Amino acid sequence: MSAMLNVVEPATEQILATVASAGIEETDSAVAKAKAALSGWKSISPPDRSRLLRSLADRMSDSHEELALIEARNAGKPIASARGEIGMAIATFRYFANAPEQPFGRTIPVAGGMAMTVREPLGVVALIVPWNFPLTIACWKLAPALAAGNTVVLKPAVLTPLTALRFAELALEAGIPEGVINVVVGPGSTCGKRLVEHPDVAKVAFTGSTEVGRSIQAGAAGTIKRVTLELGGKSANVIFADSDLELAAASAPGAVFDNAGQDCCARSRILVERGAVDRFLELLEPAVKAVVVGDPLKETTVMGPLISANHRASVASYVPASASIAFQGSTPNGPGFWFPPTVLCPVAENDPAAVDEIFGPVVAVIPFEDEADALRIANDTVYGLSGSIWTRDGAKALRVARGIEAGNLSINSNSSVRVNTPFGGFKQSGVGRELGPDALEAYSDVKTIFYSTGE
Ligand code: NAD
Repeated sequence: MSAMLNVVEPATEQILATVASAGIEETDSAVAKAKAALSGWKSISPPDRSRLLRSLADRMSDSHEELALIEARNAGKPIASARGEIGMAIATFRYFANAPEQPFGRTIPVAGGMAMTVREPLGVVALIVPWNFPLTIACWKLAPALAAGNTVVLKPAVLTPLTALRFAELALEAGIPEGVINVVVGPGSTCGKRLVEHPDVAKVAFTGSTEVGRSIQAGAAGTIKRVTLELGGKSANVIFADSDLELAAASAPGAVFDNAGQDCCARSRILVERGAVDRFLELLEPAVKAVVVGDPLKETTVMGPLISANHRASVASYVPASASIAFQGSTPNGPGFWFPPTVLCPVAENDPAAVDEIFGPVVAVIPFEDEADALRIANDTVYGLSGSIWTRDGAKALRVARGIEAGNLSINSNSSVRVNTPFGGFKQSGVGRELGPDALEAYSDVKTIFYSTGE
């Protein structure tokens, strides 16, 4: 009899669902099922595999609102955001559904015959995902993994397993054979660790904290597993005095308070050219105060609660009584893991609020002197995931974008992720790329075949 797990709704602190928690035995059984399903899935013809992935996207599309509602309640995210995220999950399947029919081998002239390369699936792939964008991040991994011919074991975070479980049902309804997609809901320390060490798992695709990512990379070494890691961030939003300050200030709250700051791409450091700091703060204050924090199921809500009481305590530790709060938004009273949008200024460059990934709605505004100083501060971090540059000087924008050590930069915008462009981190923000044309390579290995022509 497996242990049961209570899934809590962050906006009400009430139990939303109770699900069975997987231990080592259930994890091993999921891997065994994925292994048994592998040869069947690999041998489905490319057009049929494409058709099945499209059919899965269609089933998700039919259930778009249902999935969005589950995600909004389970993760405490505004319903409008949840709809957008599920839309992206569906779009990810539509994008990678084309992949099985794309040619990707090469022929290479060699002595005595012909050599060709083909890409082979890796085998059973473990997908370990966090609680902040539960189904969306799972689909960034599921779609290319399945398109490349692998079978998978998906381990959602224990706080947010509900969309993954519903997704697995939709996959069966869509005709994906039993055993191709397996979901295990269990703690990282047992279930996740077992997946990382399991000899029949060929690869781990992980999204989560840098700390856990480090242990996964170490654990995977025992069996030389392939690993892709999408980890934390402390991204800089670099605002030059010659930028459209009104637009930069109006956009800055969304860049850090979206998903209540629980976003690996959150621009949690706003670097502002010194001469523009006062004007920028003047413009930022009304934008921050206008962030509507409240019931995720209300159409007008912009920001929901944090994921858990523990996480709220961790976020709050970055705003002690002595913190220089420039201004703060508001939160509802009553149950729910609320924390107000908070702007800190001034903040010392070595203050934990300026260094650590807080993963909550707290942003540090830091002045810089010139282009070189902006780059110095932006790069003074172990992370390198994303960032923004705001200026009307195109050449400067490109220089700074090239100079920032991060995987995803945006000029005069704060966007980070698109289904059809690569996404991933420099430095301790990760290894490998998801989405876009590069993702498939991370779910297949190159094989060289030599065919002797008898010369
Ligand atoms: P986490 O690292 O605590 O957990 C992520 C997943 O790993 C969960 O499913 C967890 O159960 C599992 N896990 C925990 N310990 C494990 C272990 N020893 N072995 C195997 N699996 C284990 O992260 P979280 O708190 O769920 O998510 C927040 C973090 O995720 C933040 O640091 C954030 O920046 C990062 N994140 C990164 C991206 C990106 O694409 N770069 C996207 C979203 C979130």
